[in-house]
Amino acid sequence: PADGQGTGVHAFLHVNTEEALAVAAEVDAIRAAGGTAAQDLHPLAGVPIAVKDLIVTIGQPTTAASKMLEGWMSPYDATVVEKIRAAKLPILGKTNLDEFAMGSSTEHSAFGDTRNPWDLDRTPGGSGGGSAAAVAAYMAPLALGTDTGGSIRQPGAVTGTVGAKPTYGAVSRYGVIAMASSLDQVGPVTRTVSDAAALQELISGHDPKDSTSLPEPMDGLLEAARNGELAGLRIGIIAELEGEGFQEGVLARFQESVQVLKDAGAEVSEVSCPHLGYALGAYYLIMPSEVSSNLAKFDGVRFGNRVVPEGGGTIEQVMGATRAAGFGDEVKRRIILGTYALSAGYYDAYYGSAQKVRTLIQRDFAAAFEQVDVLISPTSPVTAFPLGEKLDDPVAMYNNDIATIPANLAGIPGISVPAGLSEGLPVGIQFLAPARGDATMYRAAAALE
Ligand code: GLN
Repeated sequence: PADGQGTGVHAFLHVNTEEALAVAAEVDAIRAAGGTAAQDLHPLAGVPIAVKDLIVTIGQPTTAASKMLEGWMSPYDATVVEKIRAAKLPILGKTNLDEFAMGSSTEHSAFGDTRNPWDLDRTPGGSGGGSAAAVAAYMAPLALGTDTGGSIRQPGAVTGTVGAKPTYGAVSRYGVIAMASSLDQVGPVTRTVSDAAALQELISGHDPKDSTSLPEPMDGLLEAARNGELAGLRIGIIAELEGEGFQEGVLARFQESVQVLKDAGAEVSEVSCPHLGYALGAYYLIMPSEVSSNLAKFDGVRFGNRVVPEGGGTIEQVMGATRAAGFGDEVKRRIILGTYALSAGYYDAYYGSAQKVRTLIQRDFAAAFEQVDVLISPTSPVTAFPLGEKLDDPVAMYNNDIATIPANLAGIPGISVPAGLSEGLPVGIQFLAPARGDATMYRAAAALE
């Protein structure tokens, strides 16, 4: 439908059909005219794309699904948006998410839930549920997401789409509203592994505006995805991520995928990453600590919709009223957690310990990648869950990311690929590779298509 909302999916917060049609017409005209201009078009030119509403865009609002930024128009484009505009991909609109990307179900959006196209009474995962649902429901062939702890991969798994988190630093974060800067990464949401590889190739590359941007370009991803050759590739099953807490149907599909990989010539073994059990705990100290710092700027003075208490007030009261009204409960919960973890006297006990755990997890992966080329696990322990089921139980909600968070802590790339259905709902399998090993990751993942 013209409102872009499908039949009750509510994937989009903003739709800009006019602009998208204008870009599509421009591409058509260039193709019709032929010649070098037509030959120079990017292979993805004219292919529509949806953009997670955490990524800033000129001409369309950017809200982060928060009342704090309702109606805000960015005066500049994110680097990834500049790149997709330069390649002439029509931008269909901005997709829904958990407020400031905090959540695993898209139920924390200030502007209403997104529903899973496979079953409208279930969530599409989160935080990038809007991008995943848009692609799953055929509203957009491509979308951009952001992944801080799984927000591209977990929604991919539960909507039957492909979602990839590139190596940290491969894609510019400039113009991406920061959640936890040491973990955030932009990535593709698509229907096929090849599409994801092509889109990641388009959006990656060094950006002087992002100080954590990798100096070297990341090429050869599409080629790797098209190659799909598994003979001799060493694949490790992460022992810690295939048992307790994982649904039976998820594990069954996972085992079948392992068999497909073996049949295709991969050497599959089991590998242990002994510290992964501590990843969730470390993430829920490091992430809120960074959140509390990154979101301090939304005070109604520097950024955010200002709320003035009745009868006026001091600057502190204005900032307090702004933040009380502008942020939802989950965002407040994390700011409070982070502020506490960083406070004098607790810093070493919480933040400092979590950083040590982060190092141990990085070492686990480094050791594992001495034995194998790629690691695999189920992406999400469960299939799409009913709306409301985990809304009042933050820890149950946080557990959805048990398999995705370690990659963010270590900065390594990860991709979720559809692996069939369990009781009518999609299951995803995750591939992880060493940092800068994105091409190997795409090559292995493509074998499952
Ligand atoms: N679901 C995770 C969280 O709530 C991941 C979020 C993300 O990747 N943006 O923090």
